[in-house]
Amino acid sequence: MPVPFLDLRAQYRSLKEQMDRAVLDVMERCQFIMGPEVARIEEEIARFCGTRFGIGVASGTDALHLSLVAMGLGPGDEVITTPFTFIATVEAVSKTGARTVFVDIDEDTFNLDVDQVADAITDRTKVIIPVHLYGQPCDMTALMEIAQERGVTVLEDCAQALGARHRGRRVGSFGIAGCISFFPSKNLGAYGDGGMVVTSDEALADRLRMLRVHGCRRKYYHEIDGFNSRLDSIQAAVLLVKLPHLEEWTQARRRVADAYNEGFKGSSVHTPVVAEGNEHVFYAYTVKVPRRDEVIAALEKAGVGYAVYYPVPLHLQDCCKALGYGPGDLPVSERLSGEVLSLPVYPELTDAQIEEVVSTVRGALGE
Ligand SMILES: *Cc1c(COP(=O)(O)O)cnc(C)c1O
Repeated sequence: MPVPFLDLRAQYRSLKEQMDRAVLDVMERCQFIMGPEVARIEEEIARFCGTRFGIGVASGTDALHLSLVAMGLGPGDEVITTPFTFIATVEAVSKTGARTVFVDIDEDTFNLDVDQVADAITDRTKVIIPVHLYGQPCDMTALMEIAQERGVTVLEDCAQALGARHRGRRVGSFGIAGCISFFPSKNLGAYGDGGMVVTSDEALADRLRMLRVHGCRRKYYHEIDGFNSRLDSIQAAVLLVKLPHLEEWTQARRRVADAYNEGFKGSSVHTPVVAEGNEHVFYAYTVKVPRRDEVIAALEKAGVGYAVYYPVPLHLQDCCKALGYGPGDLPVSERLSGEVLSLPVYPELTDAQIEEVVSTVRGALGE
């Protein structure tokens, strides 16, 4: 039985009538850029995250980049983040001219090791970017305490964790702002690229609204050097149809995760550890396995989808060479990049498919 890693078509089918109507409506009215759908989804996502404002942009990458630009980041500044993330987190920093300082991760949660963050702060540190990896919040209680004590701003990368909570509070509402991606495979995916910054800081929101439209408040009066980075009306319309379902989809993802946890009991598969006080949204269900190559070979043979997020930690990527890191500098990230394996996790997975995944992995390990 084939088990695709992702099945976007199943979700579309379940929403088809409403979705087609919403997209056609935008085409009928032809207000493709900054139409009323954009303001509506900004308001709804901000409310969902528990922030005052949402600013739609063209992608999650731009959400991060424009936020850093809005904060005035530039050459001479340092930004602390994790090497165990998607490259976009670091691209956003390097584009401003600031320097990325990597801090190793916690072995169980795959998120920034907050104790090591404290040691890495210098006079040049302006921002810390925690990434809520795989859908699990970073330890925001400890991180915010350190950041406030040392006068450093926190910008949350929520691309994989929309809706996740730490001690009852949604990610994106802890730091000065939260950056969201609507890339189609994310928990709330558009039908193309899209992103948003959520914040309760009015000055930052104001600056972001200018930055995304060529630096102007009033058309053709350019106050600052800006970008063309907008969430378009069709994507906003798609997201408006989907958002009311996000909570039920998250619950379904958790049920899949629970079923996997049960299925891997007594095996050498290390199932995800959810830290106390966290509500995980399982963008990815990521395990640590011995002999990963053999497990992958078995999955491929059985037609079961998988992903490796991420095979090379960012400090060892070619594009980061100038930062001067080498093998051995961030040992936990380096080791885990050789052990992690993400298995299919989406609301539409059937019990039989879950069983197929479990038995294929266990079989490969001789268990
Ligand atoms: C997906 C992702 C991004 C970038 O989002 P895009 O919308 O693809 O630009 C940034 N950070 C993380 C952790 C991501 O997973």
